[in-house]
Amino acid sequence: MTSTTEQLIGEYFATGTLAGLPSGHFIDGKFRPAASGQTLETFDPGTAKAFARFAAGDAEDVEAAVASSDRAFRECWRKVAPAERGRILQRTAEAIRANAERLAVVETLDNGKSLAEAQGDIRSAARLFEYYAGAADKLQGETLPLGMDYVSYTSLEPVGVTAHIIPWNYPTSTMVRGIAPALAAGCTVVVKPAEQTPLTALMLAEILRDAGLPDGVCNVLTGTGVAVGAPLVAHEKVRHVTFTGSVNTGRTVMQAAARNVASVTLELGGKSPMVMLADCDMDAALEDVLWAIYSNSGQICSAGSRLVIERSIHATFIERLAALAGKLSHGHGLRNPQIGAITSLDQLSKIAGYVDDAKVRGVRVAAGGSATVDQASGSGWFFQPTILDGVGPQDRVVQEEIFGPVLSVQVADSPEEALALANGTEFGLAAGIYTRDIKKALRLARDIDAGQIYINEYYAGGVETPFGGNKMSGFGREKGLEGLRAYCRVKSVTARI
Ligand code: ADP
Repeated sequence: MTSTTEQLIGEYFATGTLAGLPSGHFIDGKFRPAASGQTLETFDPGTAKAFARFAAGDAEDVEAAVASSDRAFRECWRKVAPAERGRILQRTAEAIRANAERLAVVETLDNGKSLAEAQGDIRSAARLFEYYAGAADKLQGETLPLGMDYVSYTSLEPVGVTAHIIPWNYPTSTMVRGIAPALAAGCTVVVKPAEQTPLTALMLAEILRDAGLPDGVCNVLTGTGVAVGAPLVAHEKVRHVTFTGSVNTGRTVMQAAARNVASVTLELGGKSPMVMLADCDMDAALEDVLWAIYSNSGQICSAGSRLVIERSIHATFIERLAALAGKLSHGHGLRNPQIGAITSLDQLSKIAGYVDDAKVRGVRVAAGGSATVDQASGSGWFFQPTILDGVGPQDRVVQEEIFGPVLSVQVADSPEEALALANGTEFGLAAGIYTRDIKKALRLARDIDAGQIYINEYYAGGVETPFGGNKMSGFGREKGLEGLRAYCRVKSVTARI
């Protein structure tokens, strides 16, 4: 019998862990320990205490997983009828919904986010499987007009074994937005979750198997980026790498894939502007800005981490925003606060370093500004929702991704200056535009160099909306039908008749 959320929360607070958590790699349909026998600990960011152990893989485990995925690709998955692939993915969506309570509690424990946010991530994982289940039997080619003497057509073929390197901020949904289209297209997958958040990837692999996915089609390897990620992305049998993470690691991954001429999708950092024009709907925009920067404690690559605001509304807007930010509740994710924890101590130190440095340089802190703890237990890794006001265009808190609940505010004297500030970083992931004037909105949408533009609602869109970056934010698109492209190769077949 599956436990309810309340039972799981009770069990966790009584014992400091949960019974039955996965602990090995998932290879060939089974859990198994690391070849070396080594393990690592995963921490609950809400208490700063370890609560589970997992396999610390190395190159030997990578070899076993890739061999399994290669065999499963050649002998099995590419031969399974697309409609049957779709049925398995649809059953997976249903099984995720049936297991949603446990998945969300485990995600909260591993990542530190609030339970409501984790539940949203699990719902979106189910929705992604459902969406791509429907696409599996619609990957059609074309016929090509070469005249009477030829028959020529294209087909979309799966690329083969694909590697998926997952970050720690959205472990479940980032994994699924890569593997669901890969599996729909007929590829096999080897997943490497982040070492901070390995558990839900293992649970999902088991759910996929139980939904009928043949052994070896989805393998999951846990361990560090250096010991597992690096040999995985450099493996000659891996034909595509989907990577979400930092710019520096993305470069390393691309170099490794280049040796095998394997393709890559890179979803890297962002410093996304929210352009607030004087004629915006201020009440609605304030709520939106809060959500854009403080949800998931700001640990979102597309977070609205810069507010670019017209001078005439700047003072009022920041005063009201600071009041709202100061009222947000924080605490252990399982107590369902508005703001959860920071996922690791390293990340907390990085955020604090940026804010302390800004203070030293005289930047005005309009809200927050310090690390804090869960009030109930006096422990955990938390950072106050923070606003750094009136920051210059070259300041490092404008130019560099902090990946925390820290909003940098830039003031503009015209929509033209706002556009220049919006485009004034090396990133190009997302941008928000707030105005009641549709012409101004659409001109800014045209001129801002970013993969996603949100007008009057940040994060608007869904599974159907392609997602990815320009400039240093990466390339390739995930989600939507675009998300299938990376996993298909076009083959043309031409016959003289
Ligand atoms: P962060 O520094 O915030 O942890 P990374 O971009 O380094 O972000 O990590 C994202 C993912 O990339 C994690 O799963 C991590 O283990 C993995 N990773 C780190 N280094 C490498 C590497 N050299 N090759 C492949 N994957 C890596």
